Amino acid sequence: MSNICIIGSGISGATIANLLSKKHSVVLFDKARGPGGRASFKRIKDKIGFDHGTQYISPKTKEFKKFTKILIKKKILKIWGGKHIFLNSKKKEDKKHLKIIGKNGNNDISKYLLKRINCNYQSELKEIDYKNKFWRLSFADGKVRSFKSIILTCPFPQLKKLSKKFIKKSFINRSLKMDANITTMIAIKKNKRSNSSYFFEDSILGWAGNENSKKRFKSKYDLWTLQSTFSWANKKINQNKDNKKENSKTMINKFFQLSKIKKTKIIYTLNHGWKYSSNSKPFKIKSYWDPKKRLGVCADWFVGPRLESGWISAHDLFKKISN
Ligand SMILES: Cc1cc2nc3c(=O)[nH]c(=O)nc-3n(C[C@H](O)[C@H](O)[C@H](O)COP(=O)(O)OP(=O)(O)OC[C@H]3O[C@@H](n4cnc5c(N)ncnc54)[C@H](O)[C@@H]3O)c2cc1C
Repeated sequence: MSNICIIGSGISGATIANLLSKKHSVVLFDKARGPGGRASFKRIKDKIGFDHGTQYISPKTKEFKKFTKILIKKKILKIWGGKHIFLNSKKKEDKKHLKIIGKNGNNDISKYLLKRINCNYQSELKEIDYKNKFWRLSFADGKVRSFKSIILTCPFPQLKKLSKKFIKKSFINRSLKMDANITTMIAIKKNKRSNSSYFFEDSILGWAGNENSKKRFKSKYDLWTLQSTFSWANKKINQNKDNKKENSKTMINKFFQLSKIKKTKIIYTLNHGWKYSSNSKPFKIKSYWDPKKRLGVCADWFVGPRLESGWISAHDLFKKISN
């Protein structure tokens, strides 16, 4: 029997699973179809697709820099040579900051860390219960599984819903607002003068990244990932499922208007709403561990809004568990 169950295959779940698997038997579940969480890659055909969450990594801490360096050497990650264009802004690109991406997609780190882990996808955890020193986990497919230890890595509001009864009030009753993001992916006719990415100073559109500039594949179209501002997405996210067409259209029109790229026929459009995209106000603790109940939590939102934050949180939890 596996003795540790991890929920989530994003950077936090993948990192803690990898670290713990050296000494323990570990099993991981994720409700999504594949690994990566908010650093997922939306595959369209063969190797062609969009990074529809994390756009790139720019390591800040010494430890994470070292980790990404190793993965570049192993050809899991690579440097993205794209240049950002800052529109209507005095901001300039800081050339000291590396822009690192997955060789095939930004979920490559999770894939690499989970290579030897027993992973189960399309497995949504619905309820948890704790009895006689065992966790009983009920999944959407009706299966109930028991574990001695569990580690949860979901966004804070989802964590609260699942585990409020079992986590110390002083921690779980804190208020933490996670901003939303709406991402629209488009394929358009090739434009020879396409840049690699734009930062916009706009109320609706925040960012556009050109997937072809990452040089992972050759597509006959220009593929753009458009990401909204938090403030616009916070207002639109609850109705995004019903208003996908309208919201995508608003973002696409803004993109052509602001970038001044010639408006051409849209070959296809995809829309993804991230209800809980990120949190920019870190907690004082980097992870949560209850050694009596053997319940752990690690996630980006403890530390900050970036992928590196999840990696730091998972390492912090690993230290707590090991002590
Ligand atoms: C639009 C967007 C753009 C971003 N851009 C960048 C960027 O450019 N650079 C950067 O560094 N960071 C960026 N980020 C932030 C980065 O993606 C996150 O910080 C990081 O991916 C969080 O990893 P995590 O493992 O903590 O959480 P997640 O990646 O959210 O992983 C949690 C996992 O748990 C699973 N899960 C949740 N609930 C359940 C359940 N009940 N049962 C089973 N599984 C469950 C989810 O499916 C998910 O896979 C961006 C995020 C978004 C949304």
